[in-house]
Amino acid sequence: LSKEKGKNTYEFYVPGMQSLSNERLVLEAALRNALVNNEFVLNYQAKLDLKTNRITGVEALLRWTHPEMGEISPQQFIPLCEENGSIIPIGRWVLETACRQNVEWQRQGLPPVKMAVNVSARQFSDPDLLQHIHDALDKSGMDPKLLELELTESMVMLNPDHTIRTLTQLREIGVRTALDDFGVGYSSLAQIKGFPIDTLKVDRSFIRNLPESDHDRAITEAIINMARTLSLTVIAEGVETEAQEAFLRGVSCDESQGFYFSRPSTAKAFSDLLRNHGVIISPDEV
Ligand code: C2E
Ligand code: MG
Ligand code: MG
Ligand code: MG
Repeated sequence: LSKEKGKNTYEFYVPGMQSLSNERLVLEAALRNALVNNEFVLNYQAKLDLKTNRITGVEALLRWTHPEMGEISPQQFIPLCEENGSIIPIGRWVLETACRQNVEWQRQGLPPVKMAVNVSARQFSDPDLLQHIHDALDKSGMDPKLLELELTESMVMLNPDHTIRTLTQLREIGVRTALDDFGVGYSSLAQIKGFPIDTLKVDRSFIRNLPESDHDRAITEAIINMARTLSLTVIAEGVETEAQEAFLRGVSCDESQGFYFSRPSTAKAFSDLLRNHGVIISPDEV
């Protein structure tokens, strides 16, 4: 390739570098048509209340299947959408689709569940975010109290004044918020306590080596205690084993989410799970 393009085109050829930027260009081009071509769908992953064993909510997770390239992971394409701004229309589609689905489940006679939607940094700083949320709620008729936005520490720390203003407006309309991937960022207790958020999601990296790791047991317990002090709900993400769930129950973690209870799946699979999930009522509820 260097030769074809003649002299002085490349000083040297780095195969990895070349293919990386090629892949990026190919993905960016494909992304441009993904929304109009209906290549996106949402998957849904349940959240389990560890005290009541009830399904309390569900998280919408974006899936992109390209006709030739097949399924492409959000970890690969979301950063590109962030950079080129397409996360705004795509994020809007996610919000509207998730809200419509939530109402549809209730129309089918299923109990109401909270619907969590991931919001990226660029969406969070978009002045139109509140309007997009209003639109999604209005168009679907969804109860705002069932909507929860998952934000990350880094995006809420970027501009604390904007964060407090936005979170306050969300709270006024009844929409809940969670800090996703909690513990891997740099937020301090002092900062967190100033934000009107509802939930902390303990990052999967602290759950992975439970219950064996002394270190991770201590960190998880500390986050749970901190959440309790701040009257926040705490949920562990990436729970893959029975032993992890048992440990979390033992330290009074409120909720759990992960492959052990349920993998992300289609809207139909989630409605079946919700319909068939036997709930064991704890004695203090009877
Ligand atoms: P996240 O919001 O922290 O979502 C959790 C990720 O962990 C999901 O990956 C989920 O499939 C995966 N997961 C859940 N339980 C387990 C488990 O037990 N073990 C393991 N190993 N993994 C588990 P996914 O769907 O690939 O999404 C990755 C990230 O992409 C998300 O992390 C989120 O940051 C982002 N994302 C996904 N959908 C959207 C979206 O609609 N909008 C935006 N802005 N970001 C999204
Ligand atoms: Mg999330
Ligand atoms: Mg997460
Ligand atoms: Mg995570």
